Amino acid sequence: MSDETLNLTPELYQYLKSVSLREPDVLVRLREETSRHPRAAMQISPEQGQFMSLLVKLLGVQKVLEIGVFTGYSSTIVALALPDDGQITACDIDEDFTSIAQRYWQEAGVSQKINLNLAPALETLNKLLDQGAEATYDMAFIDADKCNYPNYYEPCLRLLKPGGVLLVDNVLWDGRVADLSINDVDTDGIRRLNQLVHEDSRVDMSLIPLGDGLTLVRKK
Ligand code: SAH
Ligand code: CA
Repeated sequence: MSDETLNLTPELYQYLKSVSLREPDVLVRLREETSRHPRAAMQISPEQGQFMSLLVKLLGVQKVLEIGVFTGYSSTIVALALPDDGQITACDIDEDFTSIAQRYWQEAGVSQKINLNLAPALETLNKLLDQGAEATYDMAFIDADKCNYPNYYEPCLRLLKPGGVLLVDNVLWDGRVADLSINDVDTDGIRRLNQLVHEDSRVDMSLIPLGDGLTLVRKK
C-alpha cells in the first residue's frame, strides 16, 4: 500500500501485540516489577525482546555480549533462547538494578548462562580483548550509556565473529536524533554511532523502527 513504514496508531499497536506476543510468565512478572521502578522506561519492549529471541534462534547464536542489563529483561529473554551451553557476557555498573536481574535469571533457570561484569563496559570490553576474545562472539547488544555508543562500536565489532550481528538500541531516541536543536551528549552519541554504522563498508546494516529504533549490523 505504501513504500514507507506504517505509522502505528495506539489501536494498531495493541493489535500487533495481541496477535504476536508470546511472553513467558517469568518475563511478564519481570516487566510488572520493573514497571514500578523509577527508571522503568529503560526496559526494552516485549515485542523487541521476542524479536531478539527469534534472531538468536534464526542465527544459531551461542555466545552473546550485552552492554546494559538494568533489571534483566533483554538478558533473560535472550538467555532463554540460547542453547544449554550458550553464554552471555553481561556488562553493567549498577548493583541495585542487576540484583533484580539476577533474581529473574535464577527464576528463569538461566543464571548459569550469564556472567555479570559489574564495571564500566569499556573496561570489560578491553579486558575481553586482552584475554583474547577477539572474533569469538555471535551477537552483541549495545544498550547502555548513549554518550559512549561511538566508543562501544569498534571493540564490539572486534569481539564479533565474521557474520556475527551487533544490535544497537534506542537509535531513534524518541525522535530527538532528528531534532537539530537538541545537542546533549547522549543524543550526539547516538547520532555519531548512527553515522559511523551507515558509513562503515565493513558491515551490512538495517535500522529497524521497532521499539525506540533498533539497528542490526552484520560484520562481514
Ligand atoms: N537492556 C536493558 C536496559 C538497559 S538500561 C533491558 O532490557 O531492560 C541501561 C543500563 O546501562 C543501566 O542498567 C545502566 O546501569 C547501564 N550503564 C550505564 N552506564 C554504563 C557503563 N558505563 N557501563 C556499563 N553499564 C552502564
Ligand atoms: Ca534501551
